[in-house]
Amino acid sequence: MFEIPATSRAAVLEEYGQPLRMRDIPVPPVGVGEMLVKVMLAGVCGTDVHQSRGTLTIKPPLPNLQGHETLGRILALGEGRVRDAGGEALKVGDRIMWAHADCGACYWCQIARTPVLCASRQGYGFAHPSMLRGGFSQYEHITAATQVVRVPDEVTDEEAIGVGCAFRTVVAGYERLGGLGFQDNVVVLGAGPVGLYSALMAAESGAREVIVVGAPARRLALARKWGAAHVIDIDEMRDPAERQRAILALTGGRGPEVVVECSGVPAAFNEGLEMIQKGGRFLVMGQTSANTLPVAPGIITGKGLTVIGSVSASIPHFYKALQFVKTRRAKYPLAELVTTRYPLDRVNDALAAMAAGREIKPVIDNRSPAEIEESLARGALA
Ligand SMILES: [Zn+2]
Ligand SMILES: [Zn+2]
Repeated sequence: MFEIPATSRAAVLEEYGQPLRMRDIPVPPVGVGEMLVKVMLAGVCGTDVHQSRGTLTIKPPLPNLQGHETLGRILALGEGRVRDAGGEALKVGDRIMWAHADCGACYWCQIARTPVLCASRQGYGFAHPSMLRGGFSQYEHITAATQVVRVPDEVTDEEAIGVGCAFRTVVAGYERLGGLGFQDNVVVLGAGPVGLYSALMAAESGAREVIVVGAPARRLALARKWGAAHVIDIDEMRDPAERQRAILALTGGRGPEVVVECSGVPAAFNEGLEMIQKGGRFLVMGQTSANTLPVAPGIITGKGLTVIGSVSASIPHFYKALQFVKTRRAKYPLAELVTTRYPLDRVNDALAAMAAGREIKPVIDNRSPAEIEESLARGALA
């Protein structure tokens, strides 16, 4: 059942703006502390669209293997790799997720204790194809420096996959934000996966009311199921001034105490500054483009705002997000994040659908029928 393959079929980014090309990559040997996993699900992200077009702020060298949000099943465990980051025993056949590998040696790792800012992180989804460190592949090779978490048995593959990027990012961001009070109204700008998990986190963290601003209607419908008391559809309410009035009306005329930017649209930064209440906190998580725009910094001073940036996450956030999924899975339809499953050889269709905004979270699905059955059976546990 768990044979080690000689090669892995993989969709490789060779030229910006061109379709990914299917290649057969030799599977690297599994050394001390390393692992080989079968990719079960690989999420397709807005970042992947930018990466394939060459419009990311940091461009990884070509060619590279994309796919930075993966749920894998262990096929081979290197010597010495016996436990996950939470202390649970690991064995062949287990489902795991993993963070980018920080070096543990630089200033940010050792002194600042902020491994997401590590000076030499080894990323998944950005490396040369020969490393086999990307999810748009049948198999992935996990380095010895990579921390992993075992996916709880009760959790289905579809419930877990959002942890791989959006949810762990949100858990990390909300830690930087600090807690929420019952008086805090929270406006979430953006209704993609990061926005949806933000609504969920705000609702579960004790916010007074959560308001999600975004589009399309399909995403906003899920935002309501995930804890948003109000949604504002920007396809219907296109004028930012009108949206501002609607939000003031929902927040006692003062504006929200907390705004969480998850849209990635630079103009959303100014919209957040305008609507936020005096003394408010502004968590900025969605901005990954290099685009600029005029800003009035005096608003930050005048309103006495706290502006907090947060990027990515590290292994504790994966662990916490998975514990959340395990304990709240009956309360929220978490699997509804996954809108379409694509076989690996249709990854270019998945990227096109993501780019067109037709999806919430498309996934590359490499599972056998038996593995899909097994995942569905997990949903019946608990
Ligand atoms: Zn992602
Ligand atoms: Zn480091």
